[in-house]
Amino acid sequence: AGVEQDSDLLHIVHVTAEMAPIAKVGGLGDVVTGLGRACLKRGHKVDVMLPFYECIPKHCINELALIKTYNSYHDGNWVACNAYRGEVSGVPVILIEPSNHFFKGTNIYGGSYNELEAYLFFSRACLEWMQVTATQPDIIHVHEWQTGALPLFYWDMYHFLSLQKPRIVLTIHNMEHHGECRQEQLSKFGLDGSAYATADKAVDDRTVGHNPERLSLLKGGIVYSNAVVTVSPTYLKETLCSGWLSGALMRNRDKYSGILNGIDTEMWNPATDVYLPAKFDASKTEGKRICKQFVQRGLGLPFEGIIRGTCVTDQVPLVICITRLVAQKGLHLITHAIKHVEELGGQMVVLGRASDGRVEREFEGLAESHNKGSNIRILLMYSEELSHMLYSAADMVLVPSMYEPCGLAQMIGMRYGAVPIVRKTGGLADTVFDMDDQSHSEIANGFVFEGIDEGSLNCALGRAFSYYQEKPNEWKATVQKVMRIDNSWNNTAGKYIDIYNSVRVR
Ligand code: ADP
Repeated sequence: AGVEQDSDLLHIVHVTAEMAPIAKVGGLGDVVTGLGRACLKRGHKVDVMLPFYECIPKHCINELALIKTYNSYHDGNWVACNAYRGEVSGVPVILIEPSNHFFKGTNIYGGSYNELEAYLFFSRACLEWMQVTATQPDIIHVHEWQTGALPLFYWDMYHFLSLQKPRIVLTIHNMEHHGECRQEQLSKFGLDGSAYATADKAVDDRTVGHNPERLSLLKGGIVYSNAVVTVSPTYLKETLCSGWLSGALMRNRDKYSGILNGIDTEMWNPATDVYLPAKFDASKTEGKRICKQFVQRGLGLPFEGIIRGTCVTDQVPLVICITRLVAQKGLHLITHAIKHVEELGGQMVVLGRASDGRVEREFEGLAESHNKGSNIRILLMYSEELSHMLYSAADMVLVPSMYEPCGLAQMIGMRYGAVPIVRKTGGLADTVFDMDDQSHSEIANGFVFEGIDEGSLNCALGRAFSYYQEKPNEWKATVQKVMRIDNSWNNTAGKYIDIYNSVRVR
């Protein structure tokens, strides 16, 4: 509603390892669903192709139906695949289910099968599906290393068969993972792996002269796609200046752009959010107090209200940090913040899940020592529902990442009236501007620090706490201001449409 239809309509097929909410691990899942919905609203045709992971909750897919059984190639054999159709959050999905052991298990990632080969299989199987169903979208939009080989399969195989029309757009959400692949692994799927082992194709730049054997699916994707996007303008600059892919990106500079991710403002809407005990928006923030009390009460944290007959109006800020617990996210700063928020007399809730056993044990130790106390709660789990409640309850959302391609937590936090405290890197630098920086007071919306040391974080936390406690009126105005910022896909999907249009075949 309220979104203008585009005049020149496209058919876009996303090929992805994640899609929120049925197969979401991090921001990739949110982006696919959010961008897909935004393009649908503008009148385009959108499909999302996803592996049919065994762990996908089938009841969350509307009108799920088997539409086709066909074969795709692996290691000398043709493997039967089922293609299902359905709808998730209003977006049409096509789920590919191979009849072998790929994508079985209780989690999206980390199953007992060979992940690299499973995604190579999936990449080819999606094109095979297009081939056997004569589906020729204008754009095939691939994401991350998992589907980085699809452009190779397309240009060197399926384009010589019957697929003529599609052009390929690759979005890189995080450069850290690049799909290291042996030549013979690629060969198992019908391409000659050795043909890609040159620096201008898919060979890993770092190993030139050392191990020319290793390919990188992400690098292959960069070379073979018609356009490459990463998820913020600052991350674009960072990736051109440093990192092992910078050479490849520089060579492909004219087709490489940075588009800030949006958030889905229907799924993330404090005025209608079904998980919240009270609704609110920028013009009526009273409900946010109720949400804060509700969360504090639920987690056994002291809250504002009547205590022994007296009304206690508290000045205790609630800080949240909702994240995957991995090094990228600034683990040492998260653990330091827990300590420092307590010293400052605030409250903090961490909601996170670790994939690494050592990190998990470290945070279990922290949870054990802090969760008995009265100000800190460390919740080691993944919970969509809890995340909504925490964003609504929070006064401040902390994102102390070492690097952050875009970051959604600060944008979602703002939408729910939580003022962001972030490290100045990647997309965080593009979305949060410091309150104490006079040069841009009109866009100031949070607290920013640069260093990776504890002192830098202390300073930002200290400044945020002073504002909260000493300037309540300004704080309230800031809360309303951050809630009004438009970080929606409606605002940025147009930039993707422009890229799609610049490469499509008419
Ligand atoms: P990344 O993609 O690196 O994980 P982003 O900030 O782009 O980081 O996206 C993270 C998304 O995952 C946000 O929507 C955040 O709320 C959500 N998230 C992260 N950890 C959890 C968790 N433990 N429970 C619920 N949601 C989580």
